[in-house]
Amino acid sequence: MEGRWVEVADRVLVRRYAELDLSVGLVVGDGGCLVVDTRGDERQGAELVSEVRRVTSAPWAVAITHSHFDHSFGTRPFLDCPVWAHEGCRTDLADNGGRARDEWAHHYRDRGRADIADDIASTEIVLPDHLVAGRAELVVGGRPVVLAHLGRGHSGNDLVVHVPDAGVVFAGDLVENGAPPAYEDAYPLEWPATLAGLLDLLGDSGGSSGGSGGSGGSGVVVPGHGDPVDRAFAAAQHAEITALARLCERVAAGLLSPADAVRLSPYPEETTRTALGRPC
Ligand SMILES: [Zn+2]
Repeated sequence: MEGRWVEVADRVLVRRYAELDLSVGLVVGDGGCLVVDTRGDERQGAELVSEVRRVTSAPWAVAITHSHFDHSFGTRPFLDCPVWAHEGCRTDLADNGGRARDEWAHHYRDRGRADIADDIASTEIVLPDHLVAGRAELVVGGRPVVLAHLGRGHSGNDLVVHVPDAGVVFAGDLVENGAPPAYEDAYPLEWPATLAGLLDLLGDSGGSSGGSGGSGGSGVVVPGHGDPVDRAFAAAQHAEITALARLCERVAAGLLSPADAVRLSPYPEETTRTALGRPC
């Protein structure tokens, strides 16, 4: 068993994988479905194709949350179908996808995983053909689904997938559960506003002591890695990345040393130093 499905809301499923603790999504409507992210290589994508087919026989579209390989390299087995992504995702895959493929194949080979390395190295990178600049409204088998670029954050091309009738947002790596957020390609000063926009999609949490179900401030946030979380988890992460953004600003202004930023950061040293090395 390579992965497992979890139904987080009515006909909104998350497939969880041990490798990279990855989460991908599936929104099922009547006569159509949307696959959110395609995993990290063609073999992994083919596995996902067969697992989606166990759930539904409906035709699919694909939405890619961002250009990182583990979310976007498994698209080939899904073709022919619409592939949605932020316009910057296509640009990044076109310009840098080949280099990322080489680097990740090397990474896995160095760690004794020649099987995964070979799968990545032989993967054909698919460029998204349905591009979103700000926002796109889809109808997936009768269900409204909104694709939104709320700004830069974890990457330059983060796209969230909102399923309003289910109160679910697929966050890509704008939210991370089980590990610190990843800043290698991030925009630390912009990430807080972007994540605030994601929280807005789920409404105001208010007092949050009310009953169950319904609209209001509940909801499910599906991180790109780790188990699904609630709005409060994402709000807490927003506070942390905001704190780190303030530290980055103070270091950039010469008001704080990097060592003091590391000491004051809510995240481990490696994460903090990576963030400090990004545009601030
Ligand atoms: Zn990522």
